[in-house]
Amino acid sequence: MPDMIRAHGLVKTYDKVRALDGLDLSVPEGTVLGLLGPNGAGKTTAVRILTTLLDPDSGSAEVAGIDVVKRPGDVRAKIGLSGQYAAVDEYLTGYENLDMVGRLYGLGRRRSKERARELLEQFSLSDAGDRPVKTYSGGMRRRLDLAGALVAQPPVLFLDEPTTGLDPRSRLQMWDVINELVSGGTTLLLTTQYLEEADRLANEIVVIDHGRAIARGTADELKAQVGGERIALVLAESGDVEIARRILGDLSDGAVEVDEHARQLTAPVTGGAGVLMEALGRLHAERVQVLDVALRRPTLDDVFLTLTGRPRDVADADADSGRRSDGPNPDGHHPDGHHPDGHHTAAPHTEELRA
Ligand code: ATP
Repeated sequence: MPDMIRAHGLVKTYDKVRALDGLDLSVPEGTVLGLLGPNGAGKTTAVRILTTLLDPDSGSAEVAGIDVVKRPGDVRAKIGLSGQYAAVDEYLTGYENLDMVGRLYGLGRRRSKERARELLEQFSLSDAGDRPVKTYSGGMRRRLDLAGALVAQPPVLFLDEPTTGLDPRSRLQMWDVINELVSGGTTLLLTTQYLEEADRLANEIVVIDHGRAIARGTADELKAQVGGERIALVLAESGDVEIARRILGDLSDGAVEVDEHARQLTAPVTGGAGVLMEALGRLHAERVQVLDVALRRPTLDDVFLTLTGRPRDVADADADSGRRSDGPNPDGHHPDGHHPDGHHTAAPHTEELRA
């Protein structure tokens, strides 16, 4: 299968920040690439370059075989972009928004109206279609924004953090919609901070950190790189954390992760149940009370920790203190849906593309 998206050695520096530092990507036709990384990793910069909104300092990229720097107009005819912050007109209805986009794309009066109804139906927005968007929930707006990116039926779609800020139910709905698109043959590049999202949606995952790919492969391949199993414990008493840390440290193959506040410890081990029994025996002997215990395979969060040497949520805090407070749980609800650094909200991108 030919690559529908290809990037080679992309570099982009803003003032002193090297947002991209030699990024290579390729996405075969009809597949989904998940670009996974914490805040500030360079995901949005990569998407902006690939969607012709920003020129790289060096390196090259093609979408559908077309050079993004040399022929941006031709690239735009092949792509749709939908981002974190819905680019929709609050005062128009959902139907009017989509119809307007159709007209901008030159679909013609009748076809544009037809397409708007089709998309409302496909995105479960038919009932709300004649209401002003200002009455929509966050999840509905996001679906409408994605519908807007699909008006012209582009073969290549870029989704920049499509579920950031959505509640768990809306996130699941969005995942269904995305899966449906992909089964229809759309090639997709998706950025996400959620390891589970990349796991669920992507054929291949590229983990980026500081503008570079630090790992790539399927979710299973990435997990295999980390290997082993994890013992996870929750203690009854915070006073016992240090004892448990020592015991797990003796039995573990790597660093013991400790969340003091949650009294939770996680340790990579080899030897599964036997090691778990040994750990429980020693904890019992030292009268440490355990509330919850599990033996599990590595998650993509563990992959990120192993690759970068720090947990994903710590990486978030480094890059952008205070933006997130929901930890690594992909189903966590975001208390605030707004973007603190307005320089790369998706709304203007989508507008520019549509205009
Ligand atoms: P997020 O998840 O927060 O959207 P990201 O992975 O998309 O993060 P980018 O937005 O690509 O990351 O940013 C990469 C780096 O470049 C960050 O350090 C960011 O602060 C910086 N950066 C991005 N856009 C600009 C700009 N217009 N001017 C200056 N610095 C920028």
